[in-house]
Amino acid sequence: MSLRLALMIVPADAEDERDEFSDTFTVVDASAPALSVGELSTQRGDGVFESIGVVDGHAQELEPHLRRLAHSARLCDLPAPNLAQWRQAIVVAASECPPGEAVIKLILSRGVEHGPTPTAWVTAASAADFTAVRHDGVRVVTLDRGYDLGAGERAPWLLLGAKTLSYAVNMAALREAKRRGAEDAIFVTSDGFVLEAPTASLILRFGGRFITTAPSAGILHGTTQLSVYEHLEAQGFACEYATIAASALTTADAAWLVSSVRLAVPITAVDGTPVATDPALTANINRYLLSPR
Ligand code: PLP
Repeated sequence: MSLRLALMIVPADAEDERDEFSDTFTVVDASAPALSVGELSTQRGDGVFESIGVVDGHAQELEPHLRRLAHSARLCDLPAPNLAQWRQAIVVAASECPPGEAVIKLILSRGVEHGPTPTAWVTAASAADFTAVRHDGVRVVTLDRGYDLGAGERAPWLLLGAKTLSYAVNMAALREAKRRGAEDAIFVTSDGFVLEAPTASLILRFGGRFITTAPSAGILHGTTQLSVYEHLEAQGFACEYATIAASALTTADAAWLVSSVRLAVPITAVDGTPVATDPALTANINRYLLSPR
């Protein structure tokens, strides 16, 4: 997945009400080094990011992604991002995206140690082809995240609701899932409740009711889950946030992992036990997620 564009940004103050920020962007050679070795993003994973799906040059769910970037920055005590500036940078990046599916990443790092400002950049790249997995689904294993259900609220310094650059644990969970013969994982709390996947939210269907984990459990509030809920509610389905026991996973009438670039992927088995799927609804949801939003 080679980068099509890399844009370094001089972050503007959130209060800066300029109409035009293009003089704060510099297009850099995406294959050349661009960061200082003193960068805290690389030394400590200290920063936040967003991955935005792009379909035919249209950045999907732009405002929810910008809101979450600001939320993650707040949780990490980073300066509030100037959202008008980021919006303009995304427009530039989207204009470089090829037809079909692509991904734009926004990165806001704490910057160089003792440096004056955060470091910020945007990249655009073609997306991998997820057509097959959206149809065929994934087998998942449940993995203990090591925290109980109250950890997110009791210990905000764990940053459980922020999309931070520290994804080494999430990547390790995916490797463990593969070692156990699955393609993905679902984190569960130490007291037996369902959280999220390492790079996706979870949605379960029980009859005409849809359930996802309440963000207060210390998970990322997914922009795709929000969008899917809007779509399902428009069709008259009941959509809820709840505390979900891990034992509910295999009794669902259907279950999906949903995220901005891979979109909705049906879960076909949990810890080796088959889970029912709903191919028609999966196709319906993915058609919606690929339409301009
Ligand atoms: N949960 C985690 C841990 C994630 O990393 C992601 C996406 O990367 C999601 C949920 C889904 O978020 P979104 O739908 O905004 O892509």
